[in-house]
Amino acid sequence: MKKISIIVPCYNEEDVLSLFNEEIHKTVIDNIKENYTYELLFVNDGSSDNTLKVLKELKNTDDHIRIISFSRNFGKEAAMYAGLENCTGDLTVIMDADLQHSPEKILEMLDGISEGFDVVTTVRKNRKGESKIRSFLSRLFYKCMHGSSKVEVKQGAQDYRMMTRQVVNAILELKEYNRFSKGIFSWVGFNVKYIETDNRERAAGKSKWNFFGLFQYAKEGLISFSTMPLKISIILGLIISFVAIVLGIIIFAQTLFLGKDVPGYASTIVSVLFIGGIQLVSIGILSEYIAKMYMEIKNRPKYIIKDKID
Ligand code: UDP
Ligand code: MG
Repeated sequence: MKKISIIVPCYNEEDVLSLFNEEIHKTVIDNIKENYTYELLFVNDGSSDNTLKVLKELKNTDDHIRIISFSRNFGKEAAMYAGLENCTGDLTVIMDADLQHSPEKILEMLDGISEGFDVVTTVRKNRKGESKIRSFLSRLFYKCMHGSSKVEVKQGAQDYRMMTRQVVNAILELKEYNRFSKGIFSWVGFNVKYIETDNRERAAGKSKWNFFGLFQYAKEGLISFSTMPLKISIILGLIISFVAIVLGIIIFAQTLFLGKDVPGYASTIVSVLFIGGIQLVSIGILSEYIAKMYMEIKNRPKYIIKDKID
């Protein structure tokens, strides 16, 4: 019998975990039990509430549940990586704990795998229930990503997916510290089937994202998978130099033939500020990449496990 691993990153999810466990058993596990074995691998990402306690209680009701608990909050990317490193299934699913990822899709994913796909992933049909500004910014992000990187991240892509062992091993080969999984999933390739899902409300508890966090996440994505921002400074530099040369020639000719001598205070200040601004922005972009390199070179572990309950 093939084994399915379901990886669930959890950060302060005490309110929703029992419900999640109930749902996943009712809609998925009870239906596949005859053909598959399974493990439910919960990764407690340094929660400060009773998440670990709730998980331990759930484990008493089903010994297919495994728990990995971090020493502090390392972020969802680290939690997913830990799950992938520690799962033992032939097929692996990653899903959120908050039931925004409808469990019944797992059955559809299994169909996709039997059709011969290596990955079945979900994309959101719409962004219902999300604020206008958040939708706008995320669309903008996907556009930038699309324009600047060879790695295609689909509009509305989610982390909710099923993968074969071969794909999981390929993902684990990408050992970078700054992980942007949506990019990594796409980078490894393979035959991918996309299935559409509705945007669902969180069943309980609160989202961990805020505006600043999302901004950081978007920046991470762009920098991890594109060197385009670095090239922007070259292009801007070239354009400005060209304009400066043309302007220089014009001013030279004017002085030569017309003997014009304009004080030109405003234009000097404007151009100094303009060039100064461009230079600072370019250095800023450069520093973002250097900062990433710095973190990569340190080669720190992506997470630290405090407890492992198998
Ligand atoms: N999560 C995590 N570590 C974090 C933040 C979130 O493991 O630092 C988990 C969280 O418990 C949930 C999933 O990642 O299972 C998605 O988080 P959330 O629902 O807050 O994000 P959203 O759905 O709003 O994008
Ligand atoms: Mg959520």
